Amino acid sequence: MPLNTQHTASYYAATARSTAPYPSLDTELTADVCVVGGGLTGVNTALELAERGLSVVLLEARRIGWGASGRNGGQLIRGIGHDVSGFARYVGQEGVRYLKHAGIDSVALVARRIEQYAIACDLRWGFCELANTPAQFAAFQDEQAELAALGYRHETRLVGPEHLHEVVASDQYAGGLVDMGSGHLHPLDLVQGEARAAQALGVRIFEQSPVLRIEHGTTVTLHTARGKVRAQSLVLGCNAHLDDLEPRLSGKVLPAGSYVVATEPLPDSLASTLIPQNMALCDQKVGLDYYRLTADRRLLFGGACHYSGRDPKDIAAYMRPKVLKVFPQLADVRIDYQWGGMIGITANRFPQVGRLSQHPNVYYAQGYSGHGLNVTHWTAKLLAESIAVGQSQGLDVFSAVPHLTFPGGKALRSPLLALGMLWYRLREVLG
Ligand SMILES: Cc1cc2nc3c(=O)[nH]c(=O)nc-3n(C[C@H](O)[C@H](O)[C@H](O)COP(=O)(O)OP(=O)(O)OC[C@H]3O[C@@H](n4cnc5c(N)ncnc54)[C@H](O)[C@@H]3O)c2cc1C
Repeated sequence: MPLNTQHTASYYAATARSTAPYPSLDTELTADVCVVGGGLTGVNTALELAERGLSVVLLEARRIGWGASGRNGGQLIRGIGHDVSGFARYVGQEGVRYLKHAGIDSVALVARRIEQYAIACDLRWGFCELANTPAQFAAFQDEQAELAALGYRHETRLVGPEHLHEVVASDQYAGGLVDMGSGHLHPLDLVQGEARAAQALGVRIFEQSPVLRIEHGTTVTLHTARGKVRAQSLVLGCNAHLDDLEPRLSGKVLPAGSYVVATEPLPDSLASTLIPQNMALCDQKVGLDYYRLTADRRLLFGGACHYSGRDPKDIAAYMRPKVLKVFPQLADVRIDYQWGGMIGITANRFPQVGRLSQHPNVYYAQGYSGHGLNVTHWTAKLLAESIAVGQSQGLDVFSAVPHLTFPGGKALRSPLLALGMLWYRLREVLG
């Protein structure tokens, strides 16, 4: 996994409040549930299960938060997948309504968790969605109206191009939609804090313990190099990193690289004019730009989507023109950190949550398609509900949306999707 080395250069890894290691597994254990994957999905599922009184072992191949969860843009934004309205034929109008509410309630769930377990992770409220074209800005009106119809209780406001400098000092945009119920945070601190909360509730966490093999049955047995876990149920939360451990699931997710840089700390005077209200910002392009200020006033800027499996040799050099296109005034600013991470993309851009039909005691959640900070918390809740109580209506809604397998399996999913994305990008360029 070539991204491993880049993790060491991540701003988050360098500034995390605590990354005290957990032991690796070198013994045989039993548990009600074994969770594989120490990202936001796995950690929160473990935490939710422990809150419900179940015994849990969590196995992480590398470190807690090593995957997308500890590398992402830190933008905590309402919503699930792309537009869920199109799924009415699978889940009905009630199901669509449930999904829209889940997109909102999942942000509140993250906020509650941070508060309940006193997790210091630099949470700030305020997000502005940016329109690249006047047509996109016009569509924000519908989005705002829909939020009002859903009873969204946070302030939202449309910002025309003439006032946009109050939110962001860039002339690239045709307007924005401010949402004070979304925001940004330090994601590695979040997932580490949640792992410590889970551990305090009795979850046994092991790092550097990749699961090498699964033995299915009424009891599932997970094999690592030096240990074994026997459990009644198994949760796979490996997202874009699942690989061959469960090919029936990994064939449904396309790993795509996304890249992030963080500048040197900006002088107060510059930071406060660049993003005056300290919001998270994100545009509407296919390989979107997303950015925000960190707690120590760096510009943290992410973007791009690579399907080739090859990372740019020099991420800073690759990202700098994107940063300067938005903020030419940063031409002399140094980039201190550069890193990449793997997004798990699904064919319909909707996360996949459910149980394996062949092995009903194997649960999974994956494929957040680049929008997982809030959604992982929701899917974790659904998985825990389903395992602890035996059923979850929310899980039924999610799993009713088809989990499409990329045609051509591992060899073809990447070129096919790249072709699809090229088509959308061409449409964007040609207007
Ligand atoms: C660069 C980037 C920017 C992003 N920005 C945002 C953003 O701003 N806002 C947002 O909402 N979302 C964002 N996302 C998406 C979000 O980060 C993900 O959706 C979310 O973190 C997925 O969490 P996860 O736990 O499912 O997967 P991951 O965090 O990837 O965790 C999977 C874990 O499984 C482990 N694993 C894999 N195989 C095994 C095995 N065999 N045994 C044991 N462990 C194993 C891996 O080591 C890994 O730690 C971004 C993603 C990236 C990559």
